[in-house]
Amino acid sequence: MSGGVPAGLTETLAAAESVCVLTGSGVSAESGVPTFRDAQTGLWAKFQPEALATMEAFRRDPSLVWEWYRWRRELVRQARPNAAHAALVELEQMFPRFNLISQNVDGLHQAAGSRNMIEFHGNIMRTVCSEEGRVVEDYDASESPPPCPHCGAYLRPDVVWFGEQIDTDALAAAIEYAGACDVFFAIGTSALVQPAAGLAELALQSGACLVEINPQQTSLSDRASYALHGTAAELLPALVRALRDSPGERA
Ligand code: NAD
Repeated sequence: MSGGVPAGLTETLAAAESVCVLTGSGVSAESGVPTFRDAQTGLWAKFQPEALATMEAFRRDPSLVWEWYRWRRELVRQARPNAAHAALVELEQMFPRFNLISQNVDGLHQAAGSRNMIEFHGNIMRTVCSEEGRVVEDYDASESPPPCPHCGAYLRPDVVWFGEQIDTDALAAAIEYAGACDVFFAIGTSALVQPAAGLAELALQSGACLVEINPQQTSLSDRASYALHGTAAELLPALVRALRDSPGERA
């Protein structure tokens, strides 16, 4: 055991060719972006995120949902990648095949320098027309929500809301990577949101070693070969160090 990383895991990784990582909002918690399970603060404390991140909520009260996203965009704008994001960039360089699938919409993996990554749930900083889906960059931000300059429909953030479909190409690629990896990491995700959570199942069925990093127990913990109970910003840098120091060193 080195820095909370079991020796068996270091050995498995030293021999791995293909690694697939699924991240959730816990990875950005230490950057100051709250998860959906954390209590919200200030004006938004009385709302459940799950009740705002839906098309039904947007239809019922577009201004409420737009303003919630305005608040969340501001949190994301102020956030910087943390040691977990940085360690994932280093891990990417250590394996012949490395794919990162993130449920996060904050762009912090890309800001840290991750390259092979799928934004499974979109990006909160992008804005699209709620009717035509086209990306819109220039709009009147004083309106809530602003109208699309092309068709007049409301604009919305380019994120996948509960009940909406994942982009077909992103889903196909994620299924391919999860089904073909030697090691699958589930990091900072409650594993409650489908189809992302099903990727871990798929990896298990395909014979991958499942590794979880999460301070809390989840439905995946008992089936993981290694369930590491700690934060991503502590454990991922420790994992990189352990790999560097291992006899079959990956550089
Ligand atoms: P979740 O809120 O359901 O679960 C967060 C998980 O992270 C929990 O299991 C928690 O124990 C764990 N966690 C908390 N702090 C951690 C830390 N420091 N290190 C490691 N793990 C930690 O999040 P989810 O599973 O990602 O799913 C909810 C949905 O929320 C996703 O669709 C995602 O798009 C959206 N979301 C994204 C962001 C973001 O982009 N940063 C923020 C909030 C919600």
